[in-house]
Formats: sequence, C-alpha cells, structure tokens
Amino acid sequence: MYYIGMDLGGSSIKAGLVTDNGSIVFKKKKMTRVSEGSIIVMNDMAMLVEEMLEESELDGREIRGLGVGIPGAAREDGFVYFATNIFWTNVQLGKELSQMTDKSVHVANDATMAAVAEHTLGITKDAANSVFVTLGTGLGGGVILNHQVYSGSHGIGTEIGHMVVGHNADYDCTCGNNGCWETFASGTAMKNHAHRLLEQGEKSILTSAIEDENGVISTNLLFEGAREGDDVCLTVVNRMTRYLAVGIANLINIFDPEVIALGGGISASSDFFMNDLKAMVAERIYVKTMNVTRIEASKLGNDAGIIGAAMYAKSREG
Ligand SMILES: [Zn+2]
Repeated sequence: MYYIGMDLGGSSIKAGLVTDNGSIVFKKKKMTRVSEGSIIVMNDMAMLVEEMLEESELDGREIRGLGVGIPGAAREDGFVYFATNIFWTNVQLGKELSQMTDKSVHVANDATMAAVAEHTLGITKDAANSVFVTLGTGLGGGVILNHQVYSGSHGIGTEIGHMVVGHNADYDCTCGNNGCWETFASGTAMKNHAHRLLEQGEKSILTSAIEDENGVISTNLLFEGAREGDDVCLTVVNRMTRYLAVGIANLINIFDPEVIALGGGISASSDFFMNDLKAMVAERIYVKTMNVTRIEASKLGNDAGIIGAAMYAKSREG
C-alpha cells in the first residue's frame, strides 16, 4: 500500500508517493499559482496526483489516502480556516480535493506534518511524547502525545508560535497580536531586530555586507557575523536564543516531553547556540531537578513535509 504526501507551500506544491514505512518512491512538484486562486491551485494538486500515478505506473487502487500539509490552520475534515501566505480563507480543501482525486484527503498544518515525519523517521521516533519546533521565517510546531498527533478539539491547537511571551516593541505579529513567540524567535524576528540596531547607529560588519546584498539581511549573514564575533550579530543571535529558551521551557512545563526537536532553516545553525539554549532552558523549567527533556536538531531534509503528510494520512486511515 502507498500513501500520497503533499506539501503545499507559497512557492511550490511538492508531492510524493510514499510507502507504508515512509520511503518516497516517486516525487514531483509544481509551482503554486497563488494569484490564480484556490480552485486553480487545488486543480493543480489533483493534476499532480494524476501525473504521478501515470508516470510511476502505479495502480491508483494501491493508494490508500492523501495527506496535505498546508501553511495555515485547518480543521480535521480539511476545511482551511486561513493560510495567510497563499491568501486562502475558508477553503474546502479536503472536500474538493477528495472529489477531484477520488481519494480520502487528510489536511493539517505543515509543522504538524513535519512532526509526524520526525516521529516516523527522525530523532523523536521512539518518544511517546515530543514537540517539533520549526524555526524558519516564522515559528511553527507540532505536538505528539502518546505517539499520536495532538491538535486539539477542533484541529487548531498547538499554534506554539503564537503563544505570547512578552511585549514586542519592534512589530506586531501577522496574527494581529503583539508579543507572539515567533516575533522574538524566528528569521523575521532576527532580521527586524538587526535592522533596528543598525538604524540606532550600531557599528557592524553587516553594514557593508548588506550593501552587497541590496539591503537584505539573511539569517545566514547574521550567524556568519556572530561566528566572527560581530557585536550586533551576537546581540541578535543571543536574544533569539534567550526567547527560544523561554518558549521551550514553557513547552516543557506544559507537556513534559521526552524530546524537543528543532527543525526549519535556522536549526541548521543550531550548533552555534545549542549549548547556550540548553543552559537557558535549564534555568527556566519549573522542576529544575528534572532537566531531562532532550533538545536536538532535526536531521531530516526537505522531503520531511511529503513524508509527514503521507504518514499522517496513514495514521488517519487506520
Ligand atoms: Zn501571532
């Protein structure tokens, strides 16, 4: 038996045929035609399914279900409340795609799918309880409790990036609140913080570096600068690390997980801040004598979204 995993992102729709145990046997992607609207995008998704079956010469009856990770909030039945960066609100993704493909469709947030992939093949594999934190442009997460995805009573829980951890003087969150975790610990947070420090006239190697990049500060540039001992870059990385620790300590206090896995683009630089992070978490957890939750960087690559979505479909098909 096979499952189809799809990762719907702002720039591309990635899809794969995945075996029972999480191996991808065929994959294909299409550009996300965001400006054409949700119906066209869903049509493209259905086309991807059809093309993959044709090109892989797999019998469609061998496909048991289709999982889709979306960059937003969705209900268990596949109703998408919103997906901000693809401009969707109230889209019947599950129902429409199921009709178009004649397969059962299971939809969840992309960070939840990444958590499922990690639990199938990665560092949270043997853990009954774990939290996956995606640290990229924004901050998302997925929670596994008793080896099952936990997403609340309506499928909209575990939006860990929007737990409020302070007052952010730099900017409001895209959700409309102020002080969400992702406004302190994410690539966007780091860039905004760096811009403010530079505007205040702080001297930094960033000033000439960003001129070469047409004014764009990348998180890679910030980590490179921090490794070279640049004060502004170090201030930015240290504040991000401190707030990452605040949120992780909250998650440990709430869930008492065996492992917290860090994924997303910034986790690739976690060797630089992991020791500081662990020390800052240890200072902040409630039961300080029980500093036992492992914090580790994910080693899964770009296909985690596809694998996770397929394995989510498998768990829902039973
Ligand atoms: Zn928010």
